[in-house]
Amino acid sequence: MSTKAYIGLGSNIGDKKINLGQARVLIEDLEGVRISEMSSLYETSPWGKTDQEGFLNQVIEIETELNPLELLRQLQAIEIKLGRRRQVHWGPRNIDLDVLLYGREIIDQEELKVPHPYLMQRLFVLVPLAEIDSELEFPDGSKIGEVLTRLTKSADTGDLRKL
Ligand code: ATP
Ligand code: CA
Ligand code: CA
Repeated sequence: MSTKAYIGLGSNIGDKKINLGQARVLIEDLEGVRISEMSSLYETSPWGKTDQEGFLNQVIEIETELNPLELLRQLQAIEIKLGRRRQVHWGPRNIDLDVLLYGREIIDQEELKVPHPYLMQRLFVLVPLAEIDSELEFPDGSKIGEVLTRLTKSADTGDLRKL
């Protein structure tokens, strides 16, 4: 049985477009993972730690046979394969792969929290998610349209530009 999940991709070092492309190829190559939808690429201003290069962000939808922890570990292996080093929290990185949603599951472990803890506060994830599925409902029953409306009314959400 496969589950629909969403992965957030981000890069702000080197050739960001190529970094995201390589990550997508490696994700598609994973046993038990198929990419079913992709958002556009978005140029976004840094979030949380703002004294760094802008990011390129994207969200992809996958169908996967992997369980959530297996998926996370496979994504971490891809980050390492692409040369990511452990650096400053929220600092620059050539690739960042986050599990945003896994079906309608709620997971609260140290190693893996789903939905991703900052999902509801990040325009650079919500906008591409809504591009893939404008009717998306989160495990708590909230709807992506409503979450986006609420967020865009609040201050300093940062800039984002669709490529
Ligand atoms: P943020 O989580 O705010 O986007 P980050 O991506 O910079 O920050 P990382 O340094 O990439 O954070 O990851 C720190 C730890 O977060 C990882 O070791 C991982 O185990 C844990 N983690 C918890 N939930 C998730 C998730 N949904 N997706 C990816 N990593 C997660
Ligand atoms: Ca992240
Ligand atoms: Ca991460």
